[in-house]
Amino acid sequence: MSSVLVRTGQKLSSLLERQGKCPDRRELIAEIHDFLAMLEGIKPVFLHGRSLAPKDWINEVLEIAQDLGLHIIKGPFWDALSYTAFPNWYADHCRNELQPYRAWYICKDDTVAETILGINRAGGHLTVSEEARLLGYPECCVQAHYKRSQRYHRGALAILKRVAGGNENKMRKLLASQAQLVPVTQEEIDDFEIAFDIYEAKFGSWNLCHACECETDTRSEVLSKQYFEMVQKAKLEID
Ligand SMILES: [Zn+2]
Ligand SMILES: [Zn+2]
Repeated sequence: MSSVLVRTGQKLSSLLERQGKCPDRRELIAEIHDFLAMLEGIKPVFLHGRSLAPKDWINEVLEIAQDLGLHIIKGPFWDALSYTAFPNWYADHCRNELQPYRAWYICKDDTVAETILGINRAGGHLTVSEEARLLGYPECCVQAHYKRSQRYHRGALAILKRVAGGNENKMRKLLASQAQLVPVTQEEIDDFEIAFDIYEAKFGSWNLCHACECETDTRSEVLSKQYFEMVQKAKLEID
């Protein structure tokens, strides 16, 4: 009898192979790692359905979670971004854009499920450290994710301001019209460069902060090692 970990790994692997030549393969593999890491207790919550994964993938992973008797909680996209640096109309626009989306938060533990429900009741608002703890990602890397996001919004606002000649009504209209934001000034270019400067972890779907990318003995290194050992234990043969 193979373990639940191995059997689940097999189910997810064959689901991956059925996707054929999928452009998101790398992302789907990272999701398999995340799912199994949650099953192994390396991370409390597996975040599902937030990527651009195909619909049948999303549904079949949900079925696998259901068969395992896991908590499956549908809710708004979590967002730990601090909007205080932005004008209210801009912050409202960002929140409204996220508002229609739904993801599934999957976990084993009853207490964790309660915490998820609480966050979802609060509209998906949580702190960076809460998000890091629940998703099981290094806090430095989650922090860096939101810092990149801040830089993106700062750049976007600077572009809007420049194009609209500082007129707030025009800025709002431009934003609502989904106008393409093209960085021109050095500051705008720097903001966008930093915003999209992403290093992916080898396993799992978190992005590395600069320290985790460049230095040794980091939180990401420890977590990557846990993921690596879990992948061995699950006898996963995908790449
Ligand atoms: Zn880090
Ligand atoms: Zn570096």
